[in-house]
Amino acid sequence: MYERCPACGQDLLGADGAQYGGPMVFGYTVGGSAGVIVVLLLLAFGVYTELALAAGLVVSVATIALTWRHGKAAWTWLLFRTGQLRDAAESDR
Ligand SMILES: [Zn+2]
Repeated sequence: MYERCPACGQDLLGADGAQYGGPMVFGYTVGGSAGVIVVLLLLAFGVYTELALAAGLVVSVATIALTWRHGKAAWTWLLFRTGQLRDAAESDR
């Protein structure tokens, strides 16, 4: 990801660590929930426990990987909207 918007110079990184903590929490929450739902559904349909757990793990990891960019985009937007990223005009001074 760019540190600054190539068009307007908006700071996209913010404070150290701010870019990674939020998306990680988001990703693990969504991915973990998806995995648990898959395990419970498979168990409800009588799938073997070992197979259900393995499928849940695969779904969790895949969901975390596939939602990473979206989580990061959503988090950057949230930081911007709450004024935690310096705007371009301010950081030019
Ligand atoms: Zn821009």
